[in-house]
Amino acid sequence: MQLRFTPSEEAFRTELREFFTTEIPEDIRRRNAEGKTIYPDDIVTTTQILNKRGIAVPAWPVEAGGQDWTPVQHHIWREEMALNFVPDLLPFNAGMVGPVIAQFGNDAQKERFLPITRNLDLWWCQGFSEPEAGSDLASLKTRAVRDGDHYVVNGQKTWTTLGQFAKWIFMLVRTDPDVKKQAGISFLLIDLDTPGIEMRPIQLIDGGYEVNEVFFSDVRVPVENLVGEENQGWTIAKFLLGNERSGIARVGYTKTKLARAKKLASEITTPNGTLLDDPAIASRLADLENQLLALEITQLRVVAGSANGKQNPASSLLKLRGSELQQEAMELLADIAGPDSLPVAGVDAADANGTADVASPEWAQLTVPTYLNYRKVTIYGGSSEVQRQIIDKAVLGL
Ligand SMILES: Cc1cc2nc3c(=O)[nH]c(=O)nc-3n(C[C@H](O)[C@H](O)[C@H](O)COP(=O)(O)OP(=O)(O)OC[C@H]3O[C@@H](n4cnc5c(N)ncnc54)[C@H](O)[C@@H]3O)c2cc1C
Repeated sequence: MQLRFTPSEEAFRTELREFFTTEIPEDIRRRNAEGKTIYPDDIVTTTQILNKRGIAVPAWPVEAGGQDWTPVQHHIWREEMALNFVPDLLPFNAGMVGPVIAQFGNDAQKERFLPITRNLDLWWCQGFSEPEAGSDLASLKTRAVRDGDHYVVNGQKTWTTLGQFAKWIFMLVRTDPDVKKQAGISFLLIDLDTPGIEMRPIQLIDGGYEVNEVFFSDVRVPVENLVGEENQGWTIAKFLLGNERSGIARVGYTKTKLARAKKLASEITTPNGTLLDDPAIASRLADLENQLLALEITQLRVVAGSANGKQNPASSLLKLRGSELQQEAMELLADIAGPDSLPVAGVDAADANGTADVASPEWAQLTVPTYLNYRKVTIYGGSSEVQRQIIDKAVLGL
């Protein structure tokens, strides 16, 4: 098997790397490397620089601002972004609502929303999950009842990531309660400034605030904000979730974490040399690198097999393995930090980054909160159990 990139692919990679390292401000990339990206500013600045160059949303249709790239070029773009610590673009815009509007929206919606979504002038959040509808998303209850030229929306969404920065939310709502549950769902776009909406933060296990719950009481939404046909929402949701899963593997990101783990291990001295000479650490690193390489090759095959805008169900494989490997990398970093990952300090000593004022390096102090935070990656975008069921059915045909 030939795994080498062609000279023109290598040239494409060099061109992108040069752009990322010269045009994306160094402080933004440094913060990203250290896990201290500033929201929303760093993401907005980065997106707008990329958009000016025409490479913020390469996976969108060309007429919507995307690029006519090969699957390998898309892969190189994603990988070079990660390897050069360019912050992840907002998935709700770039990977979710943008492609949905481009595929299912009418001309007025495309004209109104695509340019500002691409340039992140409009920050979107995702309103799919509800307290009683996560894995079983089709059970969602948030109701939208037609009243003249409006829908009246009542209900609750939850786990709404980065909703605190959002101006609009895209939602799955129930428009027909009397049919099979998948058949009565619609896809609505809602301005978060509309009266009747309340957003409340949820604190995560690492102490941070990145998710919210959103309540809707008699929220009036113009019918022109319906995407696609009424009750076509489940088809749109499946399209969107397939996109979400293929972008979620984050192979390049995990590569940077393993490279960091290797570097840090080589700098920590032990009675027998450095931590990198410890066979247990060395074999964990080698094993993770091999697993990641296998995932990378699988990712290339999945991307190549996703023709004509149709989702390849193997994107569930990427989500499953990609999220597990991210967690394993975080665990390895915490283990390399050892006792330094658990500094004991008075509450008052914690600084703005949540690190304690004690003699353990900041990177080490951040490993355990990050490890804890990354428990989320095997849940969001569909839990591992759910991905396994999709793989059983749609990939293995069991
Ligand atoms: C950090 C974070 C951010 C998120 N961001 C968003 C967002 O922005 N917008 C949004 O809409 N949603 C978001 N989600 C929600 C996410 O999609 C759901 O949490 C996920 O789909 C799981 O649903 P649930 O939490 O209701 O768990 P449940 O569905 O209640 O599942 C609980 C447990 O049961 C298991 N389980 C469930 N069904 C089955 C089954 N059939 N077979 C075997 N095991 C099963 C699950 O794997 C899980 O372990 C986010 C979640 C997290 C954690």
